[in-house]
This record gives sequence, C-alpha cells and structure tokens, in this order.
Amino acid sequence: MKSELRHELLCLGARVFGVAGLQGHMNGELAHLEIAVSIGVDRRLNEDTLSQLMKLQKHAVRFLKSRGYRTLAIPPDSDRQKGTFISKLYKLFTHKMAATSAGIGWIGKNGLLISPDYGPRLSLVTVLTDAPLEPDGPMERSLCGDCMLCVQYCPSQAITGAEWSRISPFVELVNLSACRSHKATKRATDGKPNCGLCINICPYGRKESDSHNAEEKKPAREQC
Ligand code: SF4
Ligand code: SF4
Repeated sequence: MKSELRHELLCLGARVFGVAGLQGHMNGELAHLEIAVSIGVDRRLNEDTLSQLMKLQKHAVRFLKSRGYRTLAIPPDSDRQKGTFISKLYKLFTHKMAATSAGIGWIGKNGLLISPDYGPRLSLVTVLTDAPLEPDGPMERSLCGDCMLCVQYCPSQAITGAEWSRISPFVELVNLSACRSHKATKRATDGKPNCGLCINICPYGRKESDSHNAEEKKPAREQC
C-alpha cells in the first residue's frame, strides 16, 4: 500500500514522500492517528504551489479512506491565514516535524526543512492516518555541518547558528521577532514583505552545490 501511494503521489507531481511513525507522540483526540504521510513540492511553483499541495493531499486522503482508514489532513502553512479550526493544530504538530520524522530532511540553521536534494525549497503538507504504513527512518541531526552562509548573510542577524537535532528539537535557531522586524521594514521601504535570503543562499538543492556534504546521507532521488 505504501509503495502504491508513493508512486501515485510522485506521478502526480510530488517531489518527496515519506512516512513518519508518531507512536507515543500523539495524544488526546489524535492518539489513534500515529502515522504521518509527509508530501513536498517545489516551492518555486509559486502561485501553483498551494493548489499542487492541496491536490496531492486530497489524493492521499482519498487513497487511504477508500481502503477504510481514518485520516486528518493538516493544511499547508500558506493556508493558515484562513483561521480554520484545523489550522490551530499547527502549534501542536508541524509539517517540519512530520518531514524530519519521515527522514525527508532536517531543520537547518535557518529554521527551515532542508532536503538533501531540494534544500529549503520545498513546501510541505501532512496527512495523519491510522493506516498501517511502514515508517521511514527519521532524520536524527542536522547536516548543515560547518556551513554558516545563512547565519553570516541574514540582514537582521536573526539566525543564531545553533544546530537542530532530534534530541534537542526546540533549540532557538531563529530570533523570529528580529526576522519579522526586518520584513516589516522591508515592506515599509520597498513594498516587498518577504526576505528569503536564507532560502536563496542555502547550497543544498542548488546544482552548483554538488560538492557540499549532502552526500553524507542522501536518499535516492524520488522517482515516479
Ligand atoms: S527571512 Fe531574512 S531576516 Fe528572516 S531569518 Fe531569513 S535571512 Fe534572516
Ligand atoms: S545555508 Fe548552510 S547553515 Fe544555513 S540552512 Fe543551508 S546548509 Fe544549513
């Protein structure tokens, strides 16, 4: 069932697919949903990114429901402004947590999910389920290594340089108020609310970065 779902999603345009085992991490009304399906697309699709994510998520939900399993679709981060009830779950369960637990990548010094193949250039969506999908191995630690590019070039010095690992997931990576303040200033001065320098500068996922230490743990590129 897992390989069938993976194949279908990749053929529909997903860049990455992974399954996280959340046993012991879910409680309350979500305790029965111990599997997370993490799906990522290239965020450079721009305005098509959200519709692509929603299409893939709906497909995964239909696939699992048609086989008799329960699902809970966590909407993409870019959809959170709608303020729906489900969006309140973001604080309890993030797409990044699902993706790292599914081995898709790690949390970089810039606070973003970094995939060996796509760097910080993925947008993610998650489907929680009780389907018996075999979990992929989690990512245990950051593979940023000695790289400090995002730290050095962040215009607001918001990136602390600390490193994420599974055993210290809440270390402060980014001073969010400094980042927000920089974006607000940018919006006021040149009308552009986004910065994105810490995405653009990351060598992971860029063709010219082939020599970077991505080879240390580089899963086979997902194939349709
Ligand atoms: S978005 Fe810009 S200001 Fe914010 S952390 Fe990234 S580089 Fe720094
Ligand atoms: S720029 Fe370097 S330090 Fe920052 S997230 Fe990417 S690999 Fe990690």
